[in-house]
Amino acid sequence: MTVQTEQQHYLNYINGKWRSSSTNDVIKISNPANVDDVVGFVQSSTAEDLNGAVEAAKSAQKKWKKLSGDQRGRYLYKAADILESRLEEVAVCMTREMGKTLPEAKGETARGVAILRYYAGEGMRKIGDVIPSTDSGALMFTTRVPLGVVGVITPWNFPVAIPIWKMAPALIYGNSVVIKPATETAITCAKVIECFAEAGFPEGVINLVTGSGSVIGQGLAEHPDVNGITFTGSNAVGKKIGQTVFSRGGKYQLEMGGKNPVIVAADADLDLAVEATVSGGLRSTGQKCTATSRVIVESEIYEVFKEKLVAKVNEITVGDGQEDGTWMGPSANAGQLQTVLSYIHKGKAEGAELLCGGERLTGSKYDKGYFVQPTVFDSVTANMTIAQEEIFGPVLALMKVDSLKEALDLANDVQYGLSASIFTTNIQKMLTFIEEMDAGLVRINAESAGVELQAPFGGMKQSSSHSREQGQAAIEFYTSIKTVFVK
Ligand code: NAD
Repeated sequence: MTVQTEQQHYLNYINGKWRSSSTNDVIKISNPANVDDVVGFVQSSTAEDLNGAVEAAKSAQKKWKKLSGDQRGRYLYKAADILESRLEEVAVCMTREMGKTLPEAKGETARGVAILRYYAGEGMRKIGDVIPSTDSGALMFTTRVPLGVVGVITPWNFPVAIPIWKMAPALIYGNSVVIKPATETAITCAKVIECFAEAGFPEGVINLVTGSGSVIGQGLAEHPDVNGITFTGSNAVGKKIGQTVFSRGGKYQLEMGGKNPVIVAADADLDLAVEATVSGGLRSTGQKCTATSRVIVESEIYEVFKEKLVAKVNEITVGDGQEDGTWMGPSANAGQLQTVLSYIHKGKAEGAELLCGGERLTGSKYDKGYFVQPTVFDSVTANMTIAQEEIFGPVLALMKVDSLKEALDLANDVQYGLSASIFTTNIQKMLTFIEEMDAGLVRINAESAGVELQAPFGGMKQSSSHSREQGQAAIEFYTSIKTVFVK
């Protein structure tokens, strides 16, 4: 079975079969490091294609939910083994589609394998509690039931890990899935689905429909037979999806943007703080929802920290993520590059001082791609656009403060609350930060980007709909509780 035709056309996967869209329209996907490198074509699907996928998922779920958790887990273990055997191929595809470096792409694919194995094991875990009844002789307990059909809508920045950390829990708890990946990385997603198909999941349990957000994404959100929508992406799209799903009584989970701060206290290990700020802010070209964006530094060490930071940023090698020695790849697409450049322009216009970077990269190595210099701004104040809005690019905003209280006030003064770090050797400062920082992930002496797969992941404020993904927390979204009373 193959997803790919000779012309590099990747197909939808509906009811256990690889299919073209009903109109045969396709979308071209090019490498952001070199637009002449055409990665392939994916289906520009229609509402009709989507309806077929949802119908298949609805019918398949009736049998899938009847399997034991152990039986469902075996399919996930098998998919994990197949993905692991294709790790290199999937990672290369990811790098060609969205530009992150090959070592990062391999790390992400390995994480996808680990997530599949983690949730395969979850099929054997308890799904309810016995609750003492006040009625003597009665048995009262809870159990959990799947939602039914889960619609999965994903962004392009983690094209293996995010689809898997949504699909694996959906499947293990007895749901069927219709996934609509970001078009930019739909080929990587198709390869992941190919691993699932090869693992022998029953027809209709997993379905892939590629296409535009406004037709397929919105169509999934509106579809009356899609019982739950799990979305990761931008705030604007997430809010719209939430309203749509809520209005028809469906369940939704939204993971959205961030404007993540790092606080560097005067007593911090400065080399560690610099290393982690550069890695957390600029790896993956700053295109992580947990990427460090604001760097809030106590005044005593501000100048020293700044000097070390700029020196480190100036060492970064930008290039094609497939090449050895590249530390930072391109922006993932033309729109993203323009967004980053326009924020840099706003930063300058609003009075921030450019310390390094600030331009699109040019020259023969860069002219065919969407490369931008890693950029650091100084003298950023809370009211500036680059201190408030998510840039999703390799731009750091330095801000000077005189106390931890001032640092925390600044850190919390944004609409988002996804991830935040502090660098300090003072236990009291650590404890104050844990208590006062409004973020779903608070990290001490560690970069803001990242969370282990067995731990809950998600944000506060406008970063999320306040549910959590990953680990055992995922059961809350992918199931409903039934309270049972037996007399
Ligand atoms: P996006 O919101 O543009 O797209 C995300 C997905 O939604 C894509 O599949 C897209 O096709 C689809 N979509 C677009 N319009 C839609 C509509 N009207 N209805 C339904 N679906 C629609 O986001 P992106 O540019 O792909 O990703 C970047 C964003 O994702 C950033 O804001 C980033 O912070 C966020 N993100 C968040 C997390 C997290 O866990 N919090 C993780 C990764 C990325």
